[in-house]
Formats: sequence, C-alpha cells, structure tokens
Amino acid sequence: MNFEIRKSDPALRFTQALQKRRQTVRIILHHYHHEKATPHDVHHWHRIRGWKGIGYNVMVEMDGSIWEGRGLDKVGTHTANNNNNSIGIACQGRYDDRTRKMPDAQFNSLIWLIKHIHSIYGEIPIFGHGEVSPSACPGRFFPLDEVRQLAFRGNLTASFPISEANLQAMIDLGVINSPDYWRTVNVQWLDQLLTNAAQPNRLNRLIQNGINDIHTALNVLEIAGIMSNPDYWYRQHSKVEHLGQLIINMANRSLSPQHRIVHADIS
Ligand SMILES: [Zn+2]
Repeated sequence: MNFEIRKSDPALRFTQALQKRRQTVRIILHHYHHEKATPHDVHHWHRIRGWKGIGYNVMVEMDGSIWEGRGLDKVGTHTANNNNNSIGIACQGRYDDRTRKMPDAQFNSLIWLIKHIHSIYGEIPIFGHGEVSPSACPGRFFPLDEVRQLAFRGNLTASFPISEANLQAMIDLGVINSPDYWRTVNVQWLDQLLTNAAQPNRLNRLIQNGINDIHTALNVLEIAGIMSNPDYWYRQHSKVEHLGQLIINMANRSLSPQHRIVHADIS
C-alpha cells in the first residue's frame, strides 16, 4: 500500500500568500460534511467566505486519497483560536449521520497521515474540532477513539519517513551527507534500525574493523542483533539507493553517548 499527499492539478490558487506556522502542538480532525466534494469544491466554498482559500492543511477523501490543502507547515483557517499552532485534517463525509461508517481506505489513509505528521512534529495529540472549540464537527459518529489508537484496519503495513530526531542524530554524527534524501525515503523499519544500532554495546561490536561493502555491512548488522528481520533488509537494500552506504558509514563511526539516536517523542 502506497500512501502519499497529492497536490491538486490544476493547483489550488490562494488569494494571499500563506504563512508558515511557528508552533505545532496538536492535530485537529474535521469532516467536510459532504460525500462528493473535491478539494477544489471546498477551496471554492472557503474563498466565498472571504478566506485565502481552503482552510484545511490536508484532506482525506472517502476513497483514501490524500490531498494537500494549505500544506502541512502553513497556518490554516479551520478551528477558532487554534490555527497558529495546529494542523487541521478534514475527512470527506458526513460523520454526524449514524449510518455513515468511515470506509477502511479513508481510515487507513488518515492513520498513515497522522503517523507521518508524528514523524515530523513528534507525537502531538489528536483532537476532534468540537473538543477544542464549540462545534458539532467532525460529527458524533466520526471514529475519534479508534483513530487515536493509531492502528490500521486489516493486515496493513505502511512505510514512514525517518523521524527528524533520528535524522538529526545521523547528521550530527556525520553519517549522512544528504538529509533531504533521507527525508523523502520511506523505509519501513529504518527508524527502528537506527535506534537499535545506536545502542552503544551493540554498535561497538560493529566498529572494530572498517566495513567496505554492503553485503558485509548487512551481515555484521545481523550478527550484532541490530536487525530483527534480516530478510527484509536484504530485499530492501537493493531498492533503496543509499541504505547500504548509510550502514557502512554507521559501522565505521563510533557513537558516543550524546549521539544516542532516539525516537522523536515529546511525551
Ligand atoms: Zn471542523
């Protein structure tokens, strides 16, 4: 399953420049009370209200497609007194109607999107619009509690970009030269691999000798108990251009305690 945030074509045109948000402390969920409306429709309705354009940061349609509205890092117009420090996600559909159950495709895309946001901003809490501001949105039958469990429906697995905390640790170590590349690569277990590798007692076993080829690097990681699923990595490393080099670089550097690589976790 491939998830991505898509941009509308033709692009949404805003009447004024969008501002970057300075703070991001929560995610706020909405519905847009319409089962057919496209991002362009919502954009049009919000412009008629006198706004710059669509107020939500991102939209998730009932078929699971994810659309950029203002963009993840911009100030939205979606929840009174919360726009400067929250990300607004709107789900297509009428979740004040008891007959409407959120389709699995939409639900799973929403879960992916929230996990994606958590990988960038840390594990910020999730609210329904009506929990932070007077509103019936996102509807009494919106699956808020289920969403907060952050578990996909069905046997779905998904990939996530590396967390900013791990990325920063790798930059500090001089293990990666090109952080932008790693921000865009979705590697399912890379974050966990880096976290495991950073445990000093494990990494010390890797660095006694320089490692110069990818196969040896993977083999040593497996022997060191850093990879719990070597088959995955042997399959994956050929698909991900720089993973092998990253592993070699990691194995050829020693990690000091201040270089412990951790998950982004603000709680
Ligand atoms: Zn709302």
